[in-house]
Amino acid sequence: MNIILFGPNGSGKGTQGAILREKFSVRRIETGVIFRENVSGSTDIGRRAKIFIDRGELVPDDITIPMIMNRIKNPNFKNGWLLDGFPRNLTQAEALGMDIEREGINLDFVIEIIIDRDTAKNRIMGRRLCASENSHPNNISIDAIRPVEKHGALFCHVCGCETLTIRADDQDEAAIDKRLSIYFDTKTGTLAAVNYFKARMKVFEVHSFSEVQETSEHMMELLSCS
Ligand code: ADP
Repeated sequence: MNIILFGPNGSGKGTQGAILREKFSVRRIETGVIFRENVSGSTDIGRRAKIFIDRGELVPDDITIPMIMNRIKNPNFKNGWLLDGFPRNLTQAEALGMDIEREGINLDFVIEIIIDRDTAKNRIMGRRLCASENSHPNNISIDAIRPVEKHGALFCHVCGCETLTIRADDQDEAAIDKRLSIYFDTKTGTLAAVNYFKARMKVFEVHSFSEVQETSEHMMELLSCS
């Protein structure tokens, strides 16, 4: 099973990607994670990519495309992959489309998580981290996981922990806007990549509900009806 998962920052793509990986027993290829590993390992790719990552820009295609293609063609991935974070622009989509056709690799599902830009931004900026257990989700913009408010202070809605922290990059509005602009760009950006596949095959549109489970149930229902 080979799958591409699209969705902007703040759409819950990471969580849905984990669910898909489990469900279909595929290996997940997360471009952002691969880049971060290369940066911390100071590899050649890492050194070249770091300057763009730090600026919140896409790493140039001549670095990104071969890095991902090599993985897809690697025998370790022949039992299936889930692409997460690639393709992120039209050029990458075209390169991937041509390459998998040439190699005779089947693409089973392309999934697009749908969320409007303002909601995505509010969700990113609304994230709060529970200091006692970072898997406890808290978000001031999502009713289902809104922290509890007492006397003007916020507490984790799961365990009541009184320390909720904010990730600095979740509040960097300029960086968030830049990333969302790349995603929502229908000319050459990520939505152009989504449209590349829409012109060639069925793309499953999954709405990002505020409840993770509702979104994943909706996604699995669509895929099983296909
Ligand atoms: P984000 O922080 O936007 O959620 P990721 O963790 O997926 O992004 O990726 C971190 C960074 O790695 C991006 O900001 C970008 O610089 C780079 N990157 C990730 N995927 C790609 C891609 N497909 N093409 C180019 N650069 C990418």
